[in-house]
Amino acid sequence: MEAGWRDIDLLNPTDEHKMLRDSVRSFVTAEVEPQALDHDRQEKFNLPLFRKLGDLGLLGITVPEAYGGSGLDATAAVIVHEEISASDPGFCLAYLAHSMLFVNNLAVNGSEEQKKKILPAACAGTRVGAMAMSEPNYGTDVMGMETTARRDGDHYVIDGQKMWITNGCIDDAGTPADDVLIYAKTGEKNGRPMISTFLVERGQDGYEVGQKIRDKSGMRASNTAELVFTNCRVPKTSLIGEEGESVHHMMRNLEIERVALAAMSLGIARRSLEAMVKYSKERKAFGKPLHSFGQIQRHIAESYAEYRACSTYVYDTARRMDLWSDRGNRVDSDGVKLITTTLAKNIADRAIQVLGGYGYVGEYVVERLWRDAKLLEIGGGTLEAHQKNITRDLTRD
Ligand SMILES: Cc1cc2nc3c(=O)[nH]c(=O)nc-3n(C[C@H](O)[C@H](O)[C@H](O)COP(=O)(O)OP(=O)(O)OC[C@H]3O[C@@H](n4cnc5c(N)ncnc54)[C@H](O)[C@@H]3O)c2cc1C
Repeated sequence: MEAGWRDIDLLNPTDEHKMLRDSVRSFVTAEVEPQALDHDRQEKFNLPLFRKLGDLGLLGITVPEAYGGSGLDATAAVIVHEEISASDPGFCLAYLAHSMLFVNNLAVNGSEEQKKKILPAACAGTRVGAMAMSEPNYGTDVMGMETTARRDGDHYVIDGQKMWITNGCIDDAGTPADDVLIYAKTGEKNGRPMISTFLVERGQDGYEVGQKIRDKSGMRASNTAELVFTNCRVPKTSLIGEEGESVHHMMRNLEIERVALAAMSLGIARRSLEAMVKYSKERKAFGKPLHSFGQIQRHIAESYAEYRACSTYVYDTARRMDLWSDRGNRVDSDGVKLITTTLAKNIADRAIQVLGGYGYVGEYVVERLWRDAKLLEIGGGTLEAHQKNITRDLTRD
């Protein structure tokens, strides 16, 4: 991989960011890239490799050092997601579910006691976390969720099913995640559901994996599972924040999720662009390199310009994000995900086209990136959900 256009200052605002990008890129080249194709083919999550991200300080990238994290900002999180995803988006999705949906969520919303108990091991990678919001019958319409938690003395009793949970299981045997943050209904106020978050640990009675979801089109290097909660009694100390107050947690966590998913899209777009540039120089047709043909130039040039425009938008949004403030940036977290996910899919598609038959084969990487990119238009909010949210925000008086 070459090209100075990946390293402009905007994408590495400080020396610390540049060092982070360099070290993640070296790790990715040495350890992530060699295993990516195989783990996609086998539909297997690489747990030992995941644990190594803990040794590098990446699993708690945004968490204060006092809890075992690296104490960095949203831009740092974007850098890590872009770099890992440029090689293995499936593995990166497992990283995102742990480091953003679980670890960052708990760091922002948990109590001092909960953070001290859970975060050091989660940042080190000795425990794997997940976040369970979606359900079999409720995805975009998340407020309709059917999972409930009712207070019973010093406990809460959780009942319901969660669907599509990344890291929901950590192996083929269906071992559940060590820890899961689960959203559940705890009542109603003025006709609106009250949502609460609970921390459930593996081994608690009534928490089990329903099934590992197999045969996904892409993101096969991450595990996706259905989780079942049956009369699951958790101590009242498992409640995160105040009872019924979690809609705000959920919405703020979705913001960093969407920006991180946009960063993953940048990684896919960049890698696809690099693949088509390289191939167009090496491959000849009609006695000339492919890049001498106008139609191939259009694929390359449009991909470059679109990638650069989207990078600017994603890094600018990350730079303005304060993970610890109550005020978020909902419209741009929807905006970056809306535009970069389809960009990634389209650029991967063009790369396949430029590589011809070879592009359609796993060894040449871009067909895997294309399959992985499609998920980004669905997970963490569908394109239609982003369109709805942005329009609602822009038309509000
Ligand atoms: C591989 C994978 C990993 C995932 N990981 C997680 C995870 O870790 N945790 C988690 O909680 N969830 C996870 N999800 C779930 C994901 O967030 C949902 O799939 C997503 O939110 C969409 O929900 P749905 O699949 O139920 O689709 P639906 O909400 O049923 O949508 C179906 C279609 O209808 C459209 N639609 C729905 N409502 C509207 C509307 N009002 N206007 C216009 N169109 C609409 C949608 O855009 C979509 O095109 C994951 C999903 C996948 C596939």
